[in-house]
Order: sequence, then C-alpha cells, then structure tokens
Amino acid sequence: TTYVSDEAKALWAPWVLHCGLSPEASYSAEMLKVIGFAIELAGCPIVKGGAVNLTRAFERLIRDHGGDIRTGCDVAGITLGTNGKATGVRLSDGTEIGARRGVIASVTPDQLYRRLLGETKKPLPADVEKGLKSYRYGKGDMQIHYALKAPPTWKAGDELGKVALLHLTDGLDAVSRSSNEAERGLLPAEPTVCVGQPTALDPSRAPDGGAILWLQLPDTPRHIKGDAAGLLDCPQDGRWTEALREAFADRVEAMLSAHIEDFKDNVVARSVSSPADLETMNMNLVGGDPYGGFCGLDQFFIWRPFKSAVNHRTHVPGLYHIGASTHPGPGLGGGSGFLLASSLK
Ligand SMILES: Cc1cc2nc3c(=O)[nH]c(=O)nc-3n(C[C@H](O)[C@H](O)[C@H](O)COP(=O)(O)OP(=O)(O)OC[C@H]3O[C@@H](n4cnc5c(N)ncnc54)[C@H](O)[C@@H]3O)c2cc1C
Repeated sequence: TTYVSDEAKALWAPWVLHCGLSPEASYSAEMLKVIGFAIELAGCPIVKGGAVNLTRAFERLIRDHGGDIRTGCDVAGITLGTNGKATGVRLSDGTEIGARRGVIASVTPDQLYRRLLGETKKPLPADVEKGLKSYRYGKGDMQIHYALKAPPTWKAGDELGKVALLHLTDGLDAVSRSSNEAERGLLPAEPTVCVGQPTALDPSRAPDGGAILWLQLPDTPRHIKGDAAGLLDCPQDGRWTEALREAFADRVEAMLSAHIEDFKDNVVARSVSSPADLETMNMNLVGGDPYGGFCGLDQFFIWRPFKSAVNHRTHVPGLYHIGASTHPGPGLGGGSGFLLASSLK
C-alpha cells in the first residue's frame, strides 16, 4: 500500500525511527509494517506505576524459582574448563561464579568476543572475526525527562493530551532530513521529537495534579561533526559535553514551547541524558545506540549479530549469546531470551 496524504505519511514515518532506521533505509518499509501489525495486535501496553515494576516482577519471578540476582557487578571474563566449555564468569573484583549448565550473555558482540572471551587468548573462528569487523552501531539517542506542575495544554487541541506517544514533526520530509543529518554526524536543525505522556494513561506516575513527559530524540549523532542549524558550538573531538547536551535540549524545548501553552512556566524539573550519558549507564548502549547495533537488513533478524549466527549458540560449548544485538533484535519483548529458553528446555 502507498499512502497518498501527507498526514498519513507524517503519522507513519517517525515509527521507523523506533527501529533505529530512517525513511530511506532499505529495511524501513518492512519494519514499519511489523510495527503497525504489532501495535494492532498487542497495542502499546504500559506498566502501572512505571516500567520499574516490570523489572520488579521479573526479580520476584527469578527469586521465587530459587534464582539469585546481583547488581553493581562487572563481569570481566567468562571462565572455560579444560574441555573448552564455559564454566562460569569472573567479576572484575576477582570473584568467580560457577555455572551448572552454561552462561547466557546479554551483551554486544564486541564485548562478548573481545572482552569476555579475550583473556582466553584463543583464536576466534574466522566467521566470528569477519562478523566482528563488519558489525556496526546505529545512531545515538537522547532522552529528556520533564516533571510538570500540570498536564500540558496542546495548542492543537485537548485530544493530543490523551495520547500516550506522539511525534513532533513537519512530516515525512522532515523525518527524513532529521535522521539524515544525525547519520551524517550533525545535530539536527529540527529533530523529530517522540513525546511520551505516561501520565495520560497512568496518573499515578506523578503527584496529584502533576504530569511527566518522556522525550526521546532518536536522531542524535554518536560522534558530533557539527550543528545542521549552524548555531551551536560543537567540540573539536566530537564528544558530547554537558553544555552541548543542555543547549541541544533547549532547541527541543523551544519546539515543545511552540506547541504547548506556557510550557516553560509549567516545568518543575528537567533531566537530560546524552548518548554519552546513556553509554555510561549501560555499556551495551555503544555510543548511545539504544538498539545494541544498527538494524539494517544485513545485520538484523536471522542475520543478527552475524550471518553465521545460529540459535544463539556460540563456538564455545555452554556459552549462549542473547540480547538486543542478537536475533530477533532489540526491544523490550525479550525475544532472544524467550527463544533460547524454549530451545534449552
Ligand atoms: C532510552 C531508550 C528507550 C528505549 N525505548 C524502547 C521502547 O520504547 N520499546 C522497546 O521495545 N525498546 C526500547 N528500547 C530498547 C530496549 O530497551 C533494548 O533493546 C532492551 O533493553 C535490550 O535488552 P537486553 O537484555 O538486550 O540488554 P540490556 O537492557 O542492555 O540489559 C543488559 C544488562 O547487562 C548489563 N551488562 C552489560 N555488560 C555487563 C558486564 N560486563 N557485567 C555486568 N553487567 C553487564 C547492562 O548494564 C544491562 O543492565 C529503548 C532503549 C533505550 C536506551
């Protein structure tokens, strides 16, 4: 189907950004349909009280089944037995944790093969070396969180205040321009802004009468070459600084202010995370890529992370690779873990 009206194109185009793609990417037309079908089938469920409650539910499930959870631990390596089988992990403080059946790693391929298996000094199979050389990461991401005194009043009409996730864009060409600028290392002059309004569906996420906004900027460069608008000073080394992060967030805030009544007066607090901040929080987000690797056709779906990868197995017996960098790709559905668990039963 080809949509004719500009409005329909504007409605759909930003969704390709949620797969880390751009409207020009060869796989974006297919992924847009996947997203459309997924929303039609399952909707966009949200967790009452905040996404943290989903994590809490999993924690409880694991503990109820006799599992143990340790946080704040850095796994520095995977230990192998004399027969070459994965026997457990070693933390960076030297603690070793043994595995009865195997090790499942939810990390990027670079971390798994270069870091966690690096110490074994064993040569990697040729197909893994080849895969690692060609594996690429996607655009960065920026998050802006607002605490508001009251729900936003959208100038275009009250109905917008009831939407859980909307996109601020001038349309298909604007989405194309914004993502193209980011892919070329530029801060988009007019970024596509994903505006999440969790309190529209779940008022319990803010104090009585208040509201929160969750903004995602999927078109943010990992390594900055310049500002497409030619207004912001960009660091010579291409790295994010706090000053640039806040200045770029001001650009986004000005866009919001154009669409929401008295936006600035309504703000209680703002917290911004640049791509570099996201990577600091979680080393799987390389350069702030939220999807653990570019989602182009050559390294997506059954070709993720490598064309030679099969059923989350690695060349090391008892070592399995899951997570956003593996089949069927990124997302909160936990697809790779589910598939592996089903095959290990
Ligand atoms: C800002 C943002 C918004 C997103 N929005 C959505 C969305 O709306 N919908 C959606 O479906 N997806 C979304 N995603 C993508 C989604 O969050 C990821 O695809 C998903 O979380 C990947 O799960 P994972 O288990 O592969 O890895 P992770 O969530 O990265 O979990 C792996 C964990 O392992 C830890 N770890 C890594 N290496 C080590 C080590 N050596 N030692 C110890 N711990 C380690 C990491 O710190 C992390 O906590 C978003 C991502 C981001 C960043």
